[in-house]
Amino acid sequence: MLVDYILVGHGLAGSILANHLMNAGCSVMVFDDPTLSNSSKIAGGLYNPVTGRKMVKTWNADNLFSYLTDYYPKLEKQLGTDFLHDIPIYRPFISPEELNEWMGKSADIDYSSYVKQVHNSSAYGNQVSDDHGGILLNQSGFVDTAKMLFASTVFLTESRSLKNEYFDSSDLKLKADYVEYQGIKGKSIIFCNGHKSLGQQYFGWIPLRPVKGELLMIKTQEDLRVIHNRGVFIIPLGNGICKVGSTYDHQNLDENPTIEAKNQLVNKLNELVKFPYEIEYQLAGVRPATMDRKPIIGHHPEFKSLIAFNGFGTKGVSLIPYYAQQLVENLTEARSIDNEVNIERYFSLY
Ligand SMILES: Cc1cc2nc3c(=O)[nH]c(=O)nc-3n(C[C@H](O)[C@H](O)[C@H](O)COP(=O)(O)OP(=O)(O)OC[C@H]3O[C@@H](n4cnc5c(N)ncnc54)[C@H](O)[C@@H]3O)c2cc1C
Repeated sequence: MLVDYILVGHGLAGSILANHLMNAGCSVMVFDDPTLSNSSKIAGGLYNPVTGRKMVKTWNADNLFSYLTDYYPKLEKQLGTDFLHDIPIYRPFISPEELNEWMGKSADIDYSSYVKQVHNSSAYGNQVSDDHGGILLNQSGFVDTAKMLFASTVFLTESRSLKNEYFDSSDLKLKADYVEYQGIKGKSIIFCNGHKSLGQQYFGWIPLRPVKGELLMIKTQEDLRVIHNRGVFIIPLGNGICKVGSTYDHQNLDENPTIEAKNQLVNKLNELVKFPYEIEYQLAGVRPATMDRKPIIGHHPEFKSLIAFNGFGTKGVSLIPYYAQQLVENLTEARSIDNEVNIERYFSLY
């Protein structure tokens, strides 16, 4: 069998890259072992242009957000399902100083398109503690990642482009102008295998710094129309079910829910919300983060037909579509990959 590209991994990275490649007229074969971890399936799925304790515009936001708001609706049409929820994020202020800062900043040309409204007094006081007001963000929301991945699995299966199998690098044959794996020949192979890249034969050297994260699924009678976000985020999935997250643990990198994370999330949730809720269950996964918090994309220093598309860390939903397009342009039109995400910045580690 002959394809243009073999992909390893069907998380957000593999599925969105496969879609971009197919849209560019390339054939793919994606290998994914569903028994392995997949942080994409459990992720909060948030895309948030203004993040962090200091509330600053997220890195490369102008490019990433204009691309993703155009891309996901097109993907929904292609896959014939709805998974994009374009809803505001509400972040209560913790002090009058924070309110004052945002009264000024919201008029700043750099921020104005991301700010829907600055409330100078409580706007959602029946739901959350927001005595100092809060900010409602634009160009924000969440992707129901599990639903998107399921639809992509169906699409790729129908196109005979997905194998639910473990990919064993030791069976890969590297030839002068093609690669071959178990009788499938391709121009190149693209590793979209998330944190499992560590310990992997060809890209085990890239400096991933995985971070475990946990979430709670809660049930409430409260009618939530925004994503509340202060200390934790609360994403209303519908029918009273909400996803609450998330924790950050650099030490323990297994995928089992812990009582410590549950307590941490419950404490932060109780600080934020005023409504009653019940905990349904808990989820855990490992984010493929990197030392410099930027993705790692590009060709292997020695074997040019091997490509990494990884390191999307805490922000896969917003980073992956834009960089999938960039990688496809690199492969099909020899366009360059941005220096900040290019794997070449780490060649000295090989
Ligand atoms: C608790 C938590 C909350 C998060 N919340 C958000 C959020 O709100 N917004 C956001 O943007 N991001 C969030 N993230 C981060 C997001 O999940 C990641 O950025 C994204 O999922 C990375 O996707 P990926 O495809 O690179 O990796 P993964 O999702 O890990 O996918 C890798 C795939 O490769 C497969 N694989 C690996 N090795 C092999 C092999 N040898 N053979 C076959 N298959 C293989 C695995 O089975 C898996 O399917 C969160 C993550 C966690 C853990």
